[in-house]
Amino acid sequence: MQIQLTEEHEMIRDSAREFAERTLKPNAATWDREERFPAEAIREAAENGFLGLTVPEEYGGAGLGNLHAVVLLEEVNRWCAGTGVTLSVHNSLICGPIVKYGSEDQKQRWLPRLASGELLGAYCLTEPLAGSDAASIRTRAERVDGGWRLSGTKAWITSAPDAGLFVVYAVTDPDGPRGRNIGAFLVPAGAGGLRVGKKEEKLGIRASSTAEVVLEDVFVPDQDLLGEPGDGFKIALETLDGGRIGIAAQAVGIHRACLEDSILYANQREQFGVTIGRFQAVAWKLADMATELEAARLLVYRAAALRDAGRPCSKEAAMAKLFASRACNKAAQDAVQIHGGAGYTTEFAVERYYRDARITEIYEGATDIQRLVISRHLLG
Ligand SMILES: Cc1cc2nc3c(=O)[nH]c(=O)nc-3n(C[C@H](O)[C@H](O)[C@H](O)COP(=O)(O)OP(=O)(O)OC[C@H]3O[C@@H](n4cnc5c(N)ncnc54)[C@H](O)[C@@H]3O)c2cc1C
Repeated sequence: MQIQLTEEHEMIRDSAREFAERTLKPNAATWDREERFPAEAIREAAENGFLGLTVPEEYGGAGLGNLHAVVLLEEVNRWCAGTGVTLSVHNSLICGPIVKYGSEDQKQRWLPRLASGELLGAYCLTEPLAGSDAASIRTRAERVDGGWRLSGTKAWITSAPDAGLFVVYAVTDPDGPRGRNIGAFLVPAGAGGLRVGKKEEKLGIRASSTAEVVLEDVFVPDQDLLGEPGDGFKIALETLDGGRIGIAAQAVGIHRACLEDSILYANQREQFGVTIGRFQAVAWKLADMATELEAARLLVYRAAALRDAGRPCSKEAAMAKLFASRACNKAAQDAVQIHGGAGYTTEFAVERYYRDARITEIYEGATDIQRLVISRHLLG
């Protein structure tokens, strides 16, 4: 597939870069140290239209595509991966399925508020006993007069403490066939019985807020069931194709940060009378890092372009995430190595990149789950 970045993509890149360098670059280390959610930055992102990237203009969004989104996410993640995942989840896992599967009424009620940043979205699939095996969730949606009652616990939910709208996946028919017995529900933060539990203390992406979500007899009216009662798992997986492309773009952003900082350091630090970039051992690390960055970016662009064209992209999204996240982790390891002792301290940002990189191989399907998706496509 031919991938052509247009003038519009370049404009998005410029405006995302300007936002990231002005607002994220000077603050990312502090947010990370203090585990502070960047509410001001998210508000500013909303003012720039970054919270409704793929939402059609008639619902208050920017009406752009996935390729625009990955170009933007690389720039944001270059400076702050906590802000990056917040934007990725909101756009791909919340706005995405409402645009695709929402009723006209749901689109009108929720999309303008999501696109304007009035509401931030949280995607509630994972549970303490159901991670990679997401079809085994136990959160129950019981049929009641006029709607459903949801009960269960969701684990590690991005943006939960700051969210205004939760997309909750729950079992609508416990006796139904696996994967076809789950519904997707739109639940506002103020719904009675919905409580955000313990906020997680994390290794990386510490500016992003992550918490447990507890549902105790939460009433959801019929009008807030997304799709049909058995459509939820299909929606969750199809949505994750888009989400994985966003996380792969996050990996590209962190990878680029590792490369750029390492080049600066290698050109400045002197040992044995020369800058360390003169040593082949260091120079070759940089060459590999740069080559793998370009390869990862191309895989991400291809997956995004396929999704924009409405073509199947599960395998390509999984390949992009598999390759980009592993390349990013290798780059982060090499970046710390190139910085020597300095890279092991908070004086240099590579220490944060190293911690942030780890999550790209875990969420939205761990590395082995991407291999599972890809191999199933190969083997049939
Ligand atoms: C910071 C953070 C934010 C998150 N945000 C969200 C969110 O917003 N919404 C949400 O719903 N979830 C979220 N998650 C959950 C995340 O998606 C899961 O952690 C992830 O899917 C892995 O599930 P698990 O942690 O239960 O690991 P497990 O499924 O227990 O896996 C543990 C290990 O076993 C391996 N494994 C499991 N099954 C197989 C298999 N079949 N073949 C080979 N290896 C296998 C895995 O690859 C992994 O290495 C978040 C997690 C974190 C840490």
